[in-house]
Amino acid sequence: MKLRVGHLYPDYLNIYADRGNIAVLAARARWRGLELEVRPLAPGDPTPAGEIDLFYVGGGQDREQALIAPDLAARGPELAEAVAGGAALLAVCGGYQLFGRFYRDQSGDELPGVGLFPLHTVAGERRMIGDVLLECELEPGDRRALAGFENHAGRTYLDEGAEPLGRVVAGFGNDGESGYEGCRVGRAVGTYLHGPLLPRNAWLADWLLSQAIAHRTGEVPTFEPLEDDLEAEAHEVSARRARTRGGRY
Ligand code: GLN
Repeated sequence: MKLRVGHLYPDYLNIYADRGNIAVLAARARWRGLELEVRPLAPGDPTPAGEIDLFYVGGGQDREQALIAPDLAARGPELAEAVAGGAALLAVCGGYQLFGRFYRDQSGDELPGVGLFPLHTVAGERRMIGDVLLECELEPGDRRALAGFENHAGRTYLDEGAEPLGRVVAGFGNDGESGYEGCRVGRAVGTYLHGPLLPRNAWLADWLLSQAIAHRTGEVPTFEPLEDDLEAEAHEVSARRARTRGGRY
């Protein structure tokens, strides 16, 4: 089976090795006999909405976000339709902010967003930087830990009733106050966690792959576990750092 990933703006939104998330998805797909076709989507490229099983967008500085925001907002309806149609999405940091309604950056400019996530973001004075540890429950009763690194000026405010990705155990999270991080709408996940995120959180990579397969086949597969010793160690190192120093200016 071939899965198709739409990688939005790889030349603009790719800090903290966010591109590494694609490498993890490709490797874990390959180890399971699946093929992953990655389609870079640059400004001006058409959105092959129905063909894509998983959309991915990384993080970036305010400058890069401003360069792509008009193009992203213009393809917003197609992306929202694709996700409503069952495509999965992973949006990281600056990309996550632009999948909300808007991001008011440090210069006060309001960058338009896709409006897929029920939230908005406003840049603050002090950057929220450091290791983060979350508790997530993407599937009822299946509690998992997510560890990564955050560096953002943006404070993200979820609408009443919106579903966060997780509860902050250590770190700043969406706004440094709510105690929550990220946002989830069906198969779409947004988060501030860099690192890159997926090498140290293999379960989330598998969850995204399973949602992408469900988009293609209509059924969520159950994967055989892989030998994830290295991934588990990387997770533990990151989680330990977060517990000892996360969430401090
Ligand atoms: N430029 C945005 C902010 O500062 C996002 C940063 C990022 O992607 N790390 O909040």
